[in-house]
Amino acid sequence: MQPHLLLDVKRTIYSHTNPKATKTLVFIGGIHGNEPAGIYGLQHVIAAICKHKLELQCNLYALAGNLNAIQKNIRYETTDLNRLWTHENIQKITSQTTFNSQEEKEQAELHECIQDILNTHSGTFIFIDLHTTSSETIPFITISDSLKNRAFVSNFQLPIILGIEEYLDGPLLTYINEFGYIALGFEAGQHEDPEAVKNCETFIWQALMAAEALTKHTIEPLNVLPKNFLKVKNLGTFYEISDRYHLKKEENFTMKPGFKNFDTIQKSQEIATSNSTTINANVSGKIFMPLYQKQGDDGFFIITEISTFWLKLSSMFRTLNLHHVLRILPGVQQDKSNANALIVNPKIAAFLATKIFHLFGYRKKVLKSEKWYFIKRD
Ligand SMILES: [Zn+2]
Repeated sequence: MQPHLLLDVKRTIYSHTNPKATKTLVFIGGIHGNEPAGIYGLQHVIAAICKHKLELQCNLYALAGNLNAIQKNIRYETTDLNRLWTHENIQKITSQTTFNSQEEKEQAELHECIQDILNTHSGTFIFIDLHTTSSETIPFITISDSLKNRAFVSNFQLPIILGIEEYLDGPLLTYINEFGYIALGFEAGQHEDPEAVKNCETFIWQALMAAEALTKHTIEPLNVLPKNFLKVKNLGTFYEISDRYHLKKEENFTMKPGFKNFDTIQKSQEIATSNSTTINANVSGKIFMPLYQKQGDDGFFIITEISTFWLKLSSMFRTLNLHHVLRILPGVQQDKSNANALIVNPKIAAFLATKIFHLFGYRKKVLKSEKWYFIKRD
C-alpha cells in the first residue's frame, strides 16, 4: 500500500452520467480511513474506463468516505464514520453548520453528496461500500436481507452474510437500505494485503457487469481484470450471525493468534482473553471478523450457514406478503408511525423467536422501552 498517494483524494473521486441510464451505481471507499484498498481499486478501474473510453450504460459515482482519516491512515479520528447514520444524527448534521467532531463534518458532506445523487437520477440505485478487515480473510459480502439485495448478490460467487446490521448501530448501508435501495458491503481482504486491492478491482468490474453497465465481452479483451477473478470455493453461500462478542468500555481484549475469517470453530473452544479471563465459543460455527486491531466494538462474531430451504421459504412468504399474519399474534403491534415496523412485547410474544421475524422479512431488532422493534426490508 502507498498511503501517500491518497493525500489528495476528493470526496467525489469520479462521476459519470448517462442520460439514457436506468441504473445508478454508487461506490464508497475509505469510510474507514485505514482501509484504502477500496479507493485504490476504484482509481484503477476508473483509469481503465477512461483509458479505453468505455461506454457505461449506467450513472457511476465513486465517493471517498473519511477523508481526514484516509490521510492519516487511521480508522477514524473521534468516532467511527460508519456508526453515525441514525435518523437522530442525520437530523442533527443537516440542521447545523458547526460540528462536534471531524467525523460529523465528513458525514454531513457525504450525506449531501448522496442526497444530490438521489435527487439527480431516478430508476434503480445500487450502493456498494468497500471495506477490508483486520484479520486475514477471503473476500465476502454483507447485506441486509431484502429480496432485492439477495437478487443482486446472486451475481457473485462469494460468501454472503445476512443481517450483521442488527448488531451494529448506524452503519451507512442500513440508512440506505431503509429507502429500499440495493446496498451491499464488500470486504476485500486484510487491510494491508495487496490482494485486497485486486479483489476490489475485480469486484467493481463484476458489479458493473451485474448492473449491466458493461458486458463481459467489452471487459475481457482489455486485460484489465486482475488474474484472481473471484471464485471462493468450498464455502456455503448464505450465513447468519449466531453469536457476537461485544466489547465493554475499557475492556482489555485479545484474540488468540492465528484465527482467519471463516475458520471453523467448535463450541467451548478458546477464542480470546478478556482482562486475562479466557473467552470460549458459545456455539459451533465459523469465526467471523475477529478483532486484531485496537479500534473496534466487537471482539468476534460466530456465523452459521443458512439452509436453502429457509431461504426459499422466506422468499415465498415475502413475495406473498404473508407478513400481515404476524400482526394478529398476541404481543405484536403495528407501529403507527412506521408502516414497516412492528412493536413486539417480549413478555407476551416470547415464543416468537427472532428467526420467525427474519423469515417474514423483518430484520433490525431494536430494544426501546422494553419492547422490540422490527423493521421490514421488503
Ligand atoms: Zn471497514
